[in-house]
Amino acid sequence: MKIGIIGAGPAGSLCASRLSESGQSVLLFDPRGAWEKPCGGGVTVKALARYPFLRGCMEACRSVSQLQVISPRGARAKVMLEEPISIYSRTALNRLLLESARANGVRFLQERVLDFRHRETRWELLTDRGTHRVDFLVGADGVNSLVRKKLGERFPPEDLMMTFGYRVPKEIGDGIVIKFFPQFRGYYWVFPRTCHASFGICGRLSQHTTQTLKDLLHSFLTETGQAPDTDRMGDWPVYSALIPSLRPESLRTNRIAGENWSLVGDAGGFADPITCEGIYYALRSGDLLAQALIEGSATSYPERCHTDFAADFTHAAEMFEKFYTGDFLGSDFITRMVQASSRSAALRSIMNAFVAGRQDYRSLRTTLLRKCPRIGLEIAASAFRSSR
Ligand SMILES: Cc1cc2nc3c(=O)[nH]c(=O)nc-3n(C[C@H](O)[C@H](O)[C@H](O)COP(=O)(O)OP(=O)(O)OC[C@H]3O[C@@H](n4cnc5c(N)ncnc54)[C@H](O)[C@@H]3O)c2cc1C
Repeated sequence: MKIGIIGAGPAGSLCASRLSESGQSVLLFDPRGAWEKPCGGGVTVKALARYPFLRGCMEACRSVSQLQVISPRGARAKVMLEEPISIYSRTALNRLLLESARANGVRFLQERVLDFRHRETRWELLTDRGTHRVDFLVGADGVNSLVRKKLGERFPPEDLMMTFGYRVPKEIGDGIVIKFFPQFRGYYWVFPRTCHASFGICGRLSQHTTQTLKDLLHSFLTETGQAPDTDRMGDWPVYSALIPSLRPESLRTNRIAGENWSLVGDAGGFADPITCEGIYYALRSGDLLAQALIEGSATSYPERCHTDFAADFTHAAEMFEKFYTGDFLGSDFITRMVQASSRSAALRSIMNAFVAGRQDYRSLRTTLLRKCPRIGLEIAASAFRSSR
């Protein structure tokens, strides 16, 4: 069987690599090759644990072990990460994956797929350089996926996060800052990357224009003096891109496969609906599809994704509104959580487990309830110490 994979991001390259390694014939298309996709490049320990070969380009990566969270009402909590987040240059990460795929026998074609059609039992792909025929088609072509638009369903604006940000050539230390705004479905971030700092913001595409995001980002940068040369913002390289963040109803009906085709990574809508982490799920879905194809069971791919991670996305999506806009004990939910975690080691430990992938959304509520007495005691003890 000849497999055509459109897109050599993490999802496409890993899928191609695994398939070729097991003896399948694979064509991998991408006009850009390895490139610096607009992305924080943050890779959590769960990805490194499952895919240890990612440590192969650690020199192009930065290890970050401090996370500062600022709530809509300005409450702050610093969490020391027990397992640091690795921040990759996307060019280096994509190159590592693409070179490994080529070393495993994948035929990489630096071509843009312009269109494709089903012809008899095969797919005919038209690229900017020619025509190719394959038996199975994989859409690993990102959030604006051509394969998804033609064979699945387009993402509506309610299922997308828009991002806007700057790559600022300055050193900002080794901490990540995440800031939330009142009644705003998204967040602002400062990411220390390998050769620049990334200042950016994301918000629901259906609710905020890019201009609103830009204005919010500018006013926050100016107010806080986080980026000292705010008057030089016009000189900084800008990025703006979409991330899937599916609502519960969209996750339940998300069509990621059909006869001789499948979608992986962002094209499949596979990013965490709340945090927007997507690299791990791109790798994971690419890997799961390869396993299904190798075992001759392509139809089992959606179920494999569901069992592995997509069911938990539904729990995350159900929490989305409560998380960003809900109230709790007389304030907004995030402010209460940040205030509590600044005083409770038990709560910070849950946050650590969450970032490291040891705590899922499904059992988050139960974990919080179980640890509630301890968290309460720690908060009371801390408040008592402060009052003295
Ligand atoms: C601003 C921003 C910050 C982010 N930060 C993080 C983060 O810190 N951590 C994290 O885990 N995730 C992050 N994400 C999400 C992450 O970038 C994506 O989830 C991840 O890149 C998805 O991988 P993928 O392989 O599915 O798609 P992509 O990485 O988007 O790769 C798709 C590939 O398909 C190619 N392609 C597209 N169309 C065609 C075509 N017609 N023909 C041939 N090739 C084509 C493209 O050139 C591209 O190389 C962020 C996203 C954004 C926008």
